[in-house]
Amino acid sequence: MQAQQGLNAKAEFLATMSHEIRTPLNAVIGMTHLLKTSEPRADQKKNLDVLYFSANNLLSIVNNILDYTKIEEGRIVFENIPMDLSSIARNIVAGLQENAKEKDIELKLLIDGRLNKKLMGDPTRISQVITNLVHNAVKFTEKGSVQLSIHVESSSMSSVTLMVKVEDTGIGINQDKQIIIFDRFTQADSSTSRSYGGTGLGLAITKRILELQGVKLELQSESGKGSAFYFTQTFAISAEDSIDQKANVEFDNNPELLQGLSILLVEDNPLNVLVAQTILESQGANIDVATNGQEALDKFDTQKHKLILMDLHMPVLDGYKATEQLRKNGETLPIIALTASAPKEVESEAYACGLNDIIVKPFNPDDLYRIILHYVKAG
Ligand code: ADP
Repeated sequence: MQAQQGLNAKAEFLATMSHEIRTPLNAVIGMTHLLKTSEPRADQKKNLDVLYFSANNLLSIVNNILDYTKIEEGRIVFENIPMDLSSIARNIVAGLQENAKEKDIELKLLIDGRLNKKLMGDPTRISQVITNLVHNAVKFTEKGSVQLSIHVESSSMSSVTLMVKVEDTGIGINQDKQIIIFDRFTQADSSTSRSYGGTGLGLAITKRILELQGVKLELQSESGKGSAFYFTQTFAISAEDSIDQKANVEFDNNPELLQGLSILLVEDNPLNVLVAQTILESQGANIDVATNGQEALDKFDTQKHKLILMDLHMPVLDGYKATEQLRKNGETLPIIALTASAPKEVESEAYACGLNDIIVKPFNPDDLYRIILHYVKAG
């Protein structure tokens, strides 16, 4: 009883801590991104790159620590919803392409043509697993290539067994280190953290996420030649076979993606308002701001606003209640939650009150644009 209370208190403390750390980090990442895109001098660009890298690194450390604690406490619950694994893989590779380019290595994606149906599973967790592996592969490869491949091993009417493999031509891992790197906070080499960064949590989390689904993460590696991390997992085929379009919105080289789009931004933290507003206005959106749910209800204009970005925790009237009220009033426009809480902790309540989607702060501005465009185009 007492132990359980202790665990709950710890979990709550961590959730609060993470929320508190993410909020200022959102401003740091958002503003750095903006500075990077406002034509800095070459010397400033170099410093901004370091700042951006470090802030993102800090974010992933916070996320990893939270995740690891959650897994250890057995608080992780897997979703079982239709997911489009091909588009998940494409997104991951697209997201890391920049890192690969900077290092002048090739990042390839190979998807079995027979994988043409949605599968049932947990899209967030499988993304996390694949991202961790591809991210590591790029990080520990100095020349050559990294390849993510998804191969159909076998299939039936109702299920498909896939082999997901991430291969690289990087530094490789010594035979005697191949077991310990899966332990938490361990790296193959004490010089690793100095030259490559990281906390040594990524693989421990990846391995546990798979293990909890009865899947084994395997490794073949030779020092100096490269590594291959792979696993085989069976998924039920989803009855729903349409492909998710969210991932396929094209916006390359379009200078003003959100030109003329009126958005109501509901957010109580002035720094977050500044970040979101600047990011959105840089793409031509028109932003009205409300600092709590009540103000949002007062300021909302059916004729004008095409989308609402809604913080969840706010004084006077929170984002859930405001959304509920808007839906009761018959409003059907997209309302997207913008929250510093972990998505898993808020999503059931968020969808129940009528929110369409959740964006987690700190967000990558490109993801924000992509999601907004998806809903605006669909509407
Ligand atoms: P981190 O990358 O934060 O150090 P991980 O748990 O993801 O933590 O990885 C643990 C260690 O495993 C790394 O520090 C590195 O020594 C080794 N490692 C992981 N992936 C690779 C890879 N693709 N090539 C070489 N070494 C790797």
